Amino acid sequence: MEAQLMDGVALAADTLARVTDGVADFVAETGRRPCLVTVLVGDDPSSHVYVRMKVNRSRRVGIESRRIDLSQATTTQELVAVLDALSDDSSVDGILLQHPVPSQIDERAAFEAIDPGKDVDGVTRTSFARMAFGEKGFRSATPGGIMRLLDAYDVDLVGARAVVVGRSPILGRPVGMLLLARDATVTFCHSRTQELAEVVSQADVVIAAVGRPELIRGDWIKPGAVVVDAGYNEGNVGDVEFAAARERARLITPVPGGVGPMTIAVLLDQTLAAATSRMSG
Ligand code: NAP
Repeated sequence: MEAQLMDGVALAADTLARVTDGVADFVAETGRRPCLVTVLVGDDPSSHVYVRMKVNRSRRVGIESRRIDLSQATTTQELVAVLDALSDDSSVDGILLQHPVPSQIDERAAFEAIDPGKDVDGVTRTSFARMAFGEKGFRSATPGGIMRLLDAYDVDLVGARAVVVGRSPILGRPVGMLLLARDATVTFCHSRTQELAEVVSQADVVIAAVGRPELIRGDWIKPGAVVVDAGYNEGNVGDVEFAAARERARLITPVPGGVGPMTIAVLLDQTLAAATSRMSG
């Protein structure tokens, strides 16, 4: 039987509607809008598209969106200085550093310059540790979106065998930590993994987070498994061979329209949460 689609567009719309209401309440109470600053370094065309989308979405839910564009030649020190200043600026609630940054920049040093209280994209060590310990805090936006999708479709994670393909600091690793915190039995796969097909074929829940078109073949999927494809490759192709995987899975995310829209929804939800918590704290 064909798998049911996990509809990220609809779930993101629900989330954004709630955020819009929450922002209106925040404005009524404080007389100001929550403020998200996006920092973009360099001229990567896809990053420019993503930032434009984030800025437009922020404005639509009533969040004030500021954008800082820095040149391709920016140094780590210069970027850290900008992020330090934003961390100290009391009119700023959330900071998003669009990644990847140009290769001369030490990305980890840049992320660590973000005040954890404003880390609405969940990229700092503090946020990662909170995810790993199952504590309250800001989640990496895409992993947070994946967890919300799994919950919206009532996927039982307790004791489930979850295989995460990819281990990047912003996607594979944190989503594995969030699954572990929910009592899944988690396996991480990466470029050095042997027998990838064999490992994936044992999964009740597959999270694809690689960036290689259709790396995960449909016939690797265990019948009845849940398949979440975070990959996005040129031509609107995910990391999973969608049509064939859909024949075997129980639930599957489409690409586009699955994980992607949830990333922005989580980012804006966390911006509102940051603003609210700064107001009360
Ligand atoms: P990344 O930093 O390049 O990490 C890719 C990971 O895949 C690495 O851990 C790498 O292993 C692993 N990998 C590479 N080749 C592999 C192979 N043949 N078999 C198994 N694992 C392999 O990428 P990322 O930033 O995590 O992004 C991954 C994908 O998600 C991309 O398509 C990206 O566009 C997409 N993405 C989507 C969203 C969204 O909002 N929907 C957000 C972020 C990213 P090693 O660690 O061994 O190198």
